[in-house]
Amino acid sequence: MEIKSGHVVAMHYKLTNDQGEVLDSSEGRDPLKFLQGAGNIIPGLDKAMIGKKVGDAFTVTVEPEEAYGVRHEQMIQKVPRSAFQGVDELQVGMTFHAETEQGPVPVTITDVTGDVVTVDGNHALAGVRLTFDVTIEEVREATAEEKEHNHAH
Ligand code: ZN
Repeated sequence: MEIKSGHVVAMHYKLTNDQGEVLDSSEGRDPLKFLQGAGNIIPGLDKAMIGKKVGDAFTVTVEPEEAYGVRHEQMIQKVPRSAFQGVDELQVGMTFHAETEQGPVPVTITDVTGDVVTVDGNHALAGVRLTFDVTIEEVREATAEEKEHNHAH
């Protein structure tokens, strides 16, 4: 059975960046299940799945535009420390939800200098080219319920 939209796929994967660092992996866990064509995985990987079968192993490199998007400088902002009331100690790496016109957006503190806190609303993998080593473990038709929920069970 070749993978196409509407199939549930289980895969083992290893995700690395251009420096060869492992960012994520299913090693030691159950394979990751997703519904093909439903936006469950990034677009570049979803496309690469089409036509693959159980047992296929392949490597695909995905540009940021087809992964987590490019970085936007305007999503990096400096805000006063007073914006973080109720937080005892602000540290680089802490994440918060910032209220924006588009609703709450997760932001990460990237710098604290005096009373000025720099927050970055970009996804941690924005602007990063991603390479996936994939092995297809299972392919089957999605159930009616899975299609209705838009994800694999
Ligand atoms: Zn469900």
